[in-house]
Formats: sequence, structure tokens, C-alpha cells
Amino acid sequence: MDNYCPETIRENIRVIRENIAEACEKYGNEKNTELMAVTKTVPPEIVNLVFGEGLYLLGENRVQEYLGKRESYDLKEHDGIVPQVHFIGNLQTNKVKYIIDDIDMIQSVDSLKLAQEINRLASAHNKIMDVLCEVNIGGEDTKGGITPADTISLIEQLAPVEGIRVRGLMTIPPPVDSDVYFGRMAELFNKIKDRNIEGVSMDVLSMGMTHDYVNAVKFGSTVVRVGTGIFGRRTYI
Ligand SMILES: *Cc1c(COP(=O)(O)O)cnc(C)c1O
Repeated sequence: MDNYCPETIRENIRVIRENIAEACEKYGNEKNTELMAVTKTVPPEIVNLVFGEGLYLLGENRVQEYLGKRESYDLKEHDGIVPQVHFIGNLQTNKVKYIIDDIDMIQSVDSLKLAQEINRLASAHNKIMDVLCEVNIGGEDTKGGITPADTISLIEQLAPVEGIRVRGLMTIPPPVDSDVYFGRMAELFNKIKDRNIEGVSMDVLSMGMTHDYVNAVKFGSTVVRVGTGIFGRRTYI
């Protein structure tokens, strides 16, 4: 914890927001792209600092880590806004039960099987879970996500499912040539949106991380997920 400097974190958030606003303006992104703080490996006392900057969206990668930290997060209302927590990591079907109650959105849905388990538990807990479909836009073996070709059919299958509301797409593109992949994501996103599938709002396009968020904004991202850019380099992965 000694390595975290509150002043630096505040300054990082300020600069990132400035860059986002500038990119929105420059590239005509009217979405007013939201900044998410990705919390992996960061102690909860440090994560809580972001609320003081009016940043009320957290991204969680690992179920175990989240369960150990959530009690320490200051998730009460701040200035009339309750912080939201999205799950953005690879999610095993048998772990959905641990997060179904207090996660606000699952951004990493990449199979019908996982979606069905989310629906089963959400329905049992009287809630509707917002989800994004994670797309493996670069076709990389090492990454989760469905293929671009399978995305529309998965979304069409999920549209009528009562415990789930499909809000859009998420991706982690290959680290190089992000323009190409963000462009493909934007195309896929708009194609699905233009279909006006009933029950599918397509209002969230989650893409962009520390090294490429400005580029993601350029291609219409509505939420960028930033970890190291806010908290500094992680000491372990
Ligand atoms: C870690 C992570 C991020 C943030 O990555 P940084 O490079 O630290 O900004 C964003 N999205 C996902 C899914 C992640 O796992």
C-alpha cells in the first residue's frame, strides 16, 4: 500500500478524464465516454479514493479477490450517486452464485451456458442482470470472448431471456493495431444495434484500457476500463 500515492491517483484521474473529453470532442464521440476504475491487485482503501474524485464505476476481474475486498469498499451513496461494480474478468459458471447479488453488470458473457446460469440465479434472486457480450475481436487463443461471427446469434438467443438484459459489447483487442480492431468492434456494434432486437438496448460499448483508451474513444467506446493508468503499475498480474 505504501506504493500508492493519493495525490498521484487524483492527478491520474484528472488527466485521463481530460484526455477522454478531448478525444470525444475531436472525434465527435457524443457518448461522453465513462471512465471505469479497474481494481485488480489494488487494496480497497486505495480504491475508495476514486469516489472522492466523483468516479463511481469499478471493474472487478476475479471473483475471489472481489469477495475479499467488497466489504471494505465504500459503496454508499456519494453526492446522490451509488457506485456501481461491474464484473469484467473471465467468469466460470460455478462462480456466478457468488456475485449475482451485488454486481451491477457482467461484461464478460461469452457463452450461452454462462448466460443461462446468470439467468437462472438472477431469476431466483428477483433481479435482471445487465450483461455485455465479450467479443474476441482479434481471434486470439489466449483470450475469452465469442467470435464476431457468433455474436449476433448469441445476442438473439439472449434477447428473450427474462433474467438478463443485453446492453452491448465488450472487448480486449490485441495490443497492436488497435485501430483495426476497434473499427471492427464499432462496425459489429452498429450492425447489431441497427437490427433493433427487442429487449436489447445496445447502449454500451466497453473498450479501451490504459494504453489505448483514446483510440477506443475515437471508435465510439462508451466506457473505458483503466487500471494501471489510475493506480500505477501492478506488482503482480
Ligand atoms: C486489467 C484489465 C483492464 C485494465 O488494464 P490496464 O492496462 O491496467 O488499464 C481492463 N479490462 C480488463 C478486462 C482487465 O482485465
